[in-house]
Amino acid sequence: MQKRPCIEKKKRIVVKIGSSSLTHEETGNIYFAKIEKLVRELCDLRNSGIDVCLVSSGAIAVGRQAIGLTNKPSSNSQKQACAAVGQARLMMTYQKVFAEYNQTVAQVLMTKNTMILPNSRQNAHNTFEELFAMGVIPIVNENDTVSTYEMQFGDNDTLSALVATLVNADLLVLLSDINGMYTDDPRENEYARLIEYVPELNDDVMQMGKDSTGSGVGTGGMHTKLNAAMIATRSGADMIITNSNDLNCLHHLFDNEYTGTLFAKNEQTDFLLEDFLKD
Ligand code: GLU
Repeated sequence: MQKRPCIEKKKRIVVKIGSSSLTHEETGNIYFAKIEKLVRELCDLRNSGIDVCLVSSGAIAVGRQAIGLTNKPSSNSQKQACAAVGQARLMMTYQKVFAEYNQTVAQVLMTKNTMILPNSRQNAHNTFEELFAMGVIPIVNENDTVSTYEMQFGDNDTLSALVATLVNADLLVLLSDINGMYTDDPRENEYARLIEYVPELNDDVMQMGKDSTGSGVGTGGMHTKLNAAMIATRSGADMIITNSNDLNCLHHLFDNEYTGTLFAKNEQTDFLLEDFLKD
């Protein structure tokens, strides 16, 4: 296995956090301490001169809790109603905590159409550029309340990679409930080893993705993370998967002192974002 190199300091970072990292596993309630740590780390990155964008899941999980639903919502309309309640509550929490560090944030809700339709894509791009120029941290989620099945990204791993491409980020960080990519599923195989560095995303690596998620909330598994890696690295961004249990790792991305997997950027001249948006 190749040794993981140290990455240079980046100019623009997209950080994605999943629902399972934002809620307590036992109760599904919102995990305030986690959110506070995340916000402090993001503000520090911003204060060091890096443009920061957060892609946050959690709308459905937080909404479900607020409404008092014991089971995971099953129908699309139930999920959409939960998202409508939860997204507002999630943003209220983020805004409050970011304000403690004098950081202004913005809400950006997207559907697949935002990326597919050239006009919408250009508008979204312009908005992000303005927000970065103003020093604001955009907080992005899928617009779950209105996005119908055929217009869904479906998971925020993919969404975050597309956002990284849209804003020309040079690093995407996926904060997950797992340390990184393993040689096998570590929940099933005790001999599975963490892969620290993936210099090239070839078919063998893609085969290693398992189409599952370990948690009861969220939709991403290793499969969606590898798809995200494919999109991000081909559009010229490095990508890191690391564990959201240790948010301090965001302080150590540039000194190589973090536990996780680094996927090296691999700009491809024939990369067409449209290919990832077809179905
Ligand atoms: N957009 C969904 C939410 O905020 C999450 C999708 C995902 O888990 O990747 O609840």
